[in-house]
Amino acid sequence: MTRRRLIAGNWKMNGLQSARKELVDLIARLGGEAPTDRDVLLCPPATLLADMVRDSADSGVSLGGQDCHYETHGAHTGDISALMLKDAGAGYVIVGHSERRADHGETDEMVKAKAKVAIEAGLIAIVCVGETLAEREADLAFEVVGRQVEGSVPDGASAENCVLAYEPVWAIGTGKVATIDDIAAMHAHIRARLEGMGGAGLKNARILYGGSVKPANAAQIFQTPNVDGGLIGGASLRAGDFFAIISACN
Ligand code: PEP
Repeated sequence: MTRRRLIAGNWKMNGLQSARKELVDLIARLGGEAPTDRDVLLCPPATLLADMVRDSADSGVSLGGQDCHYETHGAHTGDISALMLKDAGAGYVIVGHSERRADHGETDEMVKAKAKVAIEAGLIAIVCVGETLAEREADLAFEVVGRQVEGSVPDGASAENCVLAYEPVWAIGTGKVATIDDIAAMHAHIRARLEGMGGAGLKNARILYGGSVKPANAAQIFQTPNVDGGLIGGASLRAGDFFAIISACN
């Protein structure tokens, strides 16, 4: 089974108007349009989303949100709904990033509800899972990630509307990368869980790896079985690095 690869950039809380030039530069490096055999996505801060959707124009580079609320609308000051992201031109939204889980106390139940409203709004939900260093050292990584997958992926999720991202918390923004064997083992574990949960509809959902992916290590990571692309933080901020990572994912 060939799954279409996805290379997704997460700008986190980085980027003023001046950063939009990175997307323009990226599109130029791509020769005016995204490769036809893989998906390219950038998730900028919400303040830049609509402008960058316009910057992207017909290039085929998709834009997405970094989070959404689990309600469709209402009295939630400062939050953004999935429909608002869709309305701004987003095609995807990241939910359950470990920084949201840690900084905002997001539980699997909340992440599942976010993924559900995102899918209902017509977005593709990127559901993040991953163990902490303490959990890995206590030999709990498979149990924790399995529980997160089962607790965070909603009913109705399929390979078309849901993507998983395995991001070991200790590898995010640290320069530390999981070994290829560890990545392969965890991605196979996630694939088996997906099959058990959703059968044929979910078992071929794409599973991204995230955690200090850089131009120098991307090709090896992307060759790992069951790695269908990457969720890239720091290295997606500069067009040159992100372009090199997109090029390595073939
Ligand atoms: C991330 O933001 O999801 C991430 C993986 O960050 P970095 O690539 O910087 O480790």
